Amino acid sequence: MKNKYRRHPVIVKVLGSVGGFCPRSPLNGAGDQGRIFPTPLRPARRRRTHRRPRHRLRRGRAAPDHGRAHGPRTADSVALTFHGQGDPAIAHALLKEAERAHAHITVLAVGTWLDEHPDIARRILDGGHDLGNHTLHHRDINAMSESDAYAEITGCADRIRRLTGSIGTWFRPSRTPTATPLVTRLARRAGYPHVLSYDVDSLDFTSPGADTVVDNVTSALRPGSVVSLHFGYTDTVAALPPLLDHLDRRGLSAVTCTELLT
Ligand SMILES: [Zn+2]
Repeated sequence: MKNKYRRHPVIVKVLGSVGGFCPRSPLNGAGDQGRIFPTPLRPARRRRTHRRPRHRLRRGRAAPDHGRAHGPRTADSVALTFHGQGDPAIAHALLKEAERAHAHITVLAVGTWLDEHPDIARRILDGGHDLGNHTLHHRDINAMSESDAYAEITGCADRIRRLTGSIGTWFRPSRTPTATPLVTRLARRAGYPHVLSYDVDSLDFTSPGADTVVDNVTSALRPGSVVSLHFGYTDTVAALPPLLDHLDRRGLSAVTCTELLT
């Protein structure tokens, strides 16, 4: 495939590798600013540090789960995850393209979107896909008060439960790739044991053209990756078949987050 659109180096530098954000966010690009800070001129003084007990993180239950960004790197699968909002015709087209290739996806639905298009919830589950919570209004949840943030999570959970009988397994925070410890606690209180992040950002919501969406994903994808994509953008519909072909050539299948991560 000929790449008609090459990624702009500045955009890639500032946005491409930060792993994330969602459209229309005032915090776009703020996800990983530390990477572009200059290194300090003076070396840090040697001192005894309290190291995190890594073995405990690997083995166990001690790690706080502020965002699952990928599955095992030995997996023969990846998870394609979608911000659930926008024109329902595009959502239906994406579901159809996924099912044509026997792929299963994970949709993190915005609660108000489910109010506008209640049929889509069952449609997603009936296709064998995962349906999760992406807050009620898709606001900057990490910046909200405890009570407002909790209302955002439970507002969406209530809608999913009413439409499907369950709140789903996954919660993805809005307008940020990772939740704060407070938001993680609130999600747990609302019944979500896992906060979902991602390690590959398609940047499809910048409408860069389908070729670039495919390139953004395939250049960063590894076994076990969780890919961030969005309903609501036509580039994503055009990108999905070549993306699924690419997975097939690499011997990777597209599975739900439940299948990849639990
Ligand atoms: Zn989103």
